[in-house]
Amino acid sequence: MEKVNILGIEYEIIKVPSISRDVYRVGEIHFERQEILILDTLSKDMAKVTLLHEVIHAILVNLGLTEDAGNENLVQGLAIALHQVIKDNKIISS
Ligand SMILES: [Zn+2]
Repeated sequence: MEKVNILGIEYEIIKVPSISRDVYRVGEIHFERQEILILDTLSKDMAKVTLLHEVIHAILVNLGLTEDAGNENLVQGLAIALHQVIKDNKIISS
């Protein structure tokens, strides 16, 4: 079972075939269950971007930045940017 530690809280990463019945979603975080759901059909890169997206939600919520946490454009922008910087710079990822 894969886990990610965000600010001292461990979240179990669960790959699932679908997430929401209402709107199309590729990831979702459940704070109360300490779980991050990731759509199991995503490519390796998109799964990582999605995980980073949920990690950023968790960071912002736990820092009390709830308004920013609800800004999906900000969260997704940071996720795609961080994914690129981490992937392309061994000094950060190693
Ligand atoms: Zn989001």
